[in-house]
Amino acid sequence: MKKLEEYVRSIPDFPEPGIIFRDVTSILQDADGLKLAVDSMQALLEDTDADVIVGTESRGFIFGAPIAYNLHKPLVLVRKKGKLPCETVEKSYDLEYGSATIEMHKDSIKPGQKVVIVDDLIATGGTIEAAAKLVEELGGTVVKVIFLMELEGLKGRERLKGYDVESVIKYQ
Ligand code: AMP
Repeated sequence: MKKLEEYVRSIPDFPEPGIIFRDVTSILQDADGLKLAVDSMQALLEDTDADVIVGTESRGFIFGAPIAYNLHKPLVLVRKKGKLPCETVEKSYDLEYGSATIEMHKDSIKPGQKVVIVDDLIATGGTIEAAAKLVEELGGTVVKVIFLMELEGLKGRERLKGYDVESVIKYQ
């Protein structure tokens, strides 16, 4: 059976010069790749006691949903601003160029709940730092943050220090 790394298609200079884009579609469009990716991420949670799985838009949804389903836990969505219909809390954060705002429904986390945040990839860590702050604003505790891929050179892990961060595939 192929290793998970072999399912990842790497595209140089996308979406802009100098970036190597790590494509998840090449994993997802292969049944073995999808299963291996979900199982490998879920294995990072073997010793974690969680009440809620949080997935961040949009590729965090892809992996968060099957993990929540398999563990029989609720799935909570962190969405880009303007997508959630009920009362929300929001957080803005800086991107390489400009900024972005994410939101969660106010009633999605109950005070004291233990939360695992799931995303496809950590680059600078800005998105997940903002998501973790939203979870905490709602009274949740982030017990673990998991990624399929980690771009170690961008030092996102340092930005998330204080959190228990794990990833399946590490790139320099
Ligand atoms: P960041 O907030 O910088 O950790 O990155 C947020 C999101 O940007 C990640 O969850 C990815 O979906 C996407 N991203 C950033 N860099 C890359 C890359 N080199 N390849 C694929 N996706 C990326």
